[in-house]
Amino acid sequence: MEKKILKIDNKSFRCKEIPLTRRELKNLLNYRIPCLCCGMEMLHPDVYLKLLGDERLAASASKVIPVLEPFENIMHPVEKQVFNMFKSMAQKYPDKNFQQLLLMKKDVHELALVKIQSSIFNKISFYRRILPKRTARALRKLIIKTNDIIFDPEPHKPFSRRIFIHKLKNILNGYENQKIKDEIINISRRLPRSSDEVCAFVVKNARKKPDIIALNLIHPSVGTFEHLQPKCLNGKNNSLNFALECSYCNNSRHHYPLAVQIEENPYMPENAQIQINKLISLCKKDICKKDYIENLVQTLKELSCEMINLDIEALKD
Ligand SMILES: [Zn+2]
Repeated sequence: MEKKILKIDNKSFRCKEIPLTRRELKNLLNYRIPCLCCGMEMLHPDVYLKLLGDERLAASASKVIPVLEPFENIMHPVEKQVFNMFKSMAQKYPDKNFQQLLLMKKDVHELALVKIQSSIFNKISFYRRILPKRTARALRKLIIKTNDIIFDPEPHKPFSRRIFIHKLKNILNGYENQKIKDEIINISRRLPRSSDEVCAFVVKNARKKPDIIALNLIHPSVGTFEHLQPKCLNGKNNSLNFALECSYCNNSRHHYPLAVQIEENPYMPENAQIQINKLISLCKKDICKKDYIENLVQTLKELSCEMINLDIEALKD
């Protein structure tokens, strides 16, 4: 699908008043709110802030594990798998820290990762046979460059999935066959992210310090304010334009429009409904405000071209 840049004027937002202060919005994160995009339960940012200065995280695995255990239930799936890997490795190597443990696993996981990546690049390369000459040439160049990075054990710059997809989209920009274009982009989306493949997590994090690795197990779950209309498209910097989203989903959206985020996360409309249901239940306890929910629903509907069309009937009861 083509990237849709939506420039919706802020005037179209429903209420004029800011429904919740930043503090009130942040306070909602004390109530196990699921992320708008991925649906995972979020952690209050202050809890994470406390951990940031915790020196115990740089210690040996056997000491860090009890510190992280209370957060195991909110870890995202890959992070949870890595945490379990640490737990079983720590029984054998209790004195090694998280970085030393990851380095022991790095080669095996890197090989697995390169295998997945190269098979995807191969699939993309097949399209050179049907693409116009110039596009095919540009694609060939990109794949050669990318292979140089992934097959080099110590590349100058590590491979970036996001940059690769961005370059691929640029190459296909002038190509008219939308169906083929979508096929190629969808194949590229299967490239592993550290959030959906343990091997990608291990490779990405083995270069990091032990305390950072420990924090990275939790960081994706931290609740943040997502600008529904990106700031660079004049999105407001208050709760009229904020949705609660986990740090992972917020960071991976970058400045892209909502429509692109939904393309990458097809379950987002269902997950948004789950969040809204939770907010409605908090509204009935006077913890959240009706105006905030109504504005959020309206904003999501407009910015997503109605791909996110939420039911707030329960708000009227
Ligand atoms: Zn999320």
